[in-house]
Amino acid sequence: MMLQRLSRYSGGRPWVAELITLIVLLLCPVVLPLVGISADIASRILIWGLFGLGFDILFGYTGLLSFGQAAFFGTGGFVSAFLLTQTGIHGVFLALMIGMLVAMAAGVVVGFFTLRRSGIYFAMITLAFAEMFHFLELSPLSAWTGGENGLTGVPMPIVGFDSWHFQISSGWTLYGYIAAFFLVGYIVAHRIVLSPFGQVLTALRDNTPRALATGHSVRKYKLTAFVIAAGYAGVAGGLLGVLQSYMPPDAVAFHTSGQLVMQSIIGGAGTLFGPLVGAALWLGMQDFLQDIPFIAEAWMLILGIVFVILITAFRQGILGAVKQLVMKTEPATAPHATELSAEISRRTHIKGVPDEHPNQDNIPDHFFRTDTPTTKPDLLIVPKSSTSEGIALACRNLTKHYGGIYANEGITLSIPEGQLRGIIGPNGAGKSTFFKMLAGEVVPTEGQIFLHGADITGLGVTAVSQLGMSKSYQINELFSKLTVEQNLAIPVLARLRGEFRTDMLKSLNQVPGLRQQIEATLDLVNLDQRADIPVTELAYGEKRRLEIGLALASAPNVLLLDEPLAGMSPRERADTVQLLKRIRAGRTLIVVEHDMDAMFELAEYISVLQEGRLLAEGTPEEIKNDKRVQDAYLGGIEEA
Ligand code: ATP
Repeated sequence: MMLQRLSRYSGGRPWVAELITLIVLLLCPVVLPLVGISADIASRILIWGLFGLGFDILFGYTGLLSFGQAAFFGTGGFVSAFLLTQTGIHGVFLALMIGMLVAMAAGVVVGFFTLRRSGIYFAMITLAFAEMFHFLELSPLSAWTGGENGLTGVPMPIVGFDSWHFQISSGWTLYGYIAAFFLVGYIVAHRIVLSPFGQVLTALRDNTPRALATGHSVRKYKLTAFVIAAGYAGVAGGLLGVLQSYMPPDAVAFHTSGQLVMQSIIGGAGTLFGPLVGAALWLGMQDFLQDIPFIAEAWMLILGIVFVILITAFRQGILGAVKQLVMKTEPATAPHATELSAEISRRTHIKGVPDEHPNQDNIPDHFFRTDTPTTKPDLLIVPKSSTSEGIALACRNLTKHYGGIYANEGITLSIPEGQLRGIIGPNGAGKSTFFKMLAGEVVPTEGQIFLHGADITGLGVTAVSQLGMSKSYQINELFSKLTVEQNLAIPVLARLRGEFRTDMLKSLNQVPGLRQQIEATLDLVNLDQRADIPVTELAYGEKRRLEIGLALASAPNVLLLDEPLAGMSPRERADTVQLLKRIRAGRTLIVVEHDMDAMFELAEYISVLQEGRLLAEGTPEEIKNDKRVQDAYLGGIEEA
């Protein structure tokens, strides 16, 4: 069952898509002339499709919208064209490869600066870089690029070895040469998106902070995706010069980047073929409209109107809409949360928690674990360091100021290995800030944190996670576009592969231990029947269990749980308390929770925070009877 699931989410039979692509590419020279599409248009579409494959990895899969891809398209194009027209290099393939490598080198430099920002700022910096490249091409580098004239005389390729040569002339033979590049480009891109590396990219797109917290080096993954996209752009730019026998100066202009973005969005980002479909529409319509009398001059206006309609109708693009349609018609393999939605009649609003809390009385029994797990979960746990001397986690004088606000001040405590420690305190006492500092999300203003005796102060959340301490969040931080199983794969990949690995040509099934760790986590958090379900379709209680599962899957030996029972119905709470009991074995658990009954039932020792300071510590019995705690905290709740 699980093997089947994993092969499903690792793409099943990737060679099928590749074989179909090959057949379609072979059929084009036969079919397209019958409908009036020339070899030149077909070749252009493929060049834009190749350009778009790299861009889709960057935008559709990694979520980075660049408006500066023309910089790399032009760099690759002009380097190849320069080599072929101004130097002794005659091999078109060699020149294209050099152009690609130079474009990738430019990608490293540009990516290094642009990836310091995200969202609109990232997009604007890429645009600024592209404008700089355009200026350089037109002016200071005009001796090499031909300036406003571009470079003419780019030769046609010759293919073959030694005595057997074949001079490619224009037309469908050149189409075949370009199609070979597209096919190889597609095979590589398809491998990348199905690989463990590609899976991490989708996690960055969906929830970058959580990807960081699960132990992935977000910057290295983003930079690699950026460089890959630059490489694709470089080859595509080079092929444009070959196709036209001329490298045009406007290859580096803004409208090239803009056209790529438009084509990708219209065709469907995150589908690999989306940009190709977008390009086919764009170039096909442009060609068609320009041939119609009276309309020819207004072709841009008509194209614009058609695209506005298309984007409005298909938010996910044409292929995105097709993908959704196919997913909808696929039979469900497990009970869907939609079963629940009809039964949700009462919703409870909890601070910071979305209004999706189901009425427990209406929830079918199969949404709860009624038995103890039949298979003994065999979850990995990171071995703890030998220097720990029995203390899993300790902090000394931990302090955090936000301007004049003292969120935490002078907290010193230590937690023995294997203990279940409760952290309680009234709202605003500083519990979440304390957890954020422990997990490496927030740098303390003062003080130190020790994990198994090693100072981890200021190391950052990725390093802390890699060292074996992870955290589940008060408000769910899931990878919203992925299924349950794909969500769990993200922390497991960080544990098994480290913070960064370029295993782009491997499949997920080739990661040793991945399957077992996901399976064990699914079983432990009772989501094994829901593995294939997209996160958006889960009931709220299931999402909370997945939230804990994400933290567990990275095999921590110290687990921080920030309000794991937040927003749950009594029945879900009881279920989750059982879950917390199950996951205790072999690890240290530190739990922030407002539910006092659960806390007194679960915790062996409790630390109480008030106004950012440590107020008291003791066993649940001692805390219950502590006058200061009653006054400061429990009394307050009773009054409320
Ligand atoms: P709750 O139980 O309501 O979640 P808490 O005990 O977790 O509360 P914190 O969220 O840690 O408390 O907040 C402690 C104090 O620090 C509060 O006064 C809060 O407003 C303040 N604080 C927390 N984060 C920030 C921030 N990023 N900037 C400014 N003040 C902050």
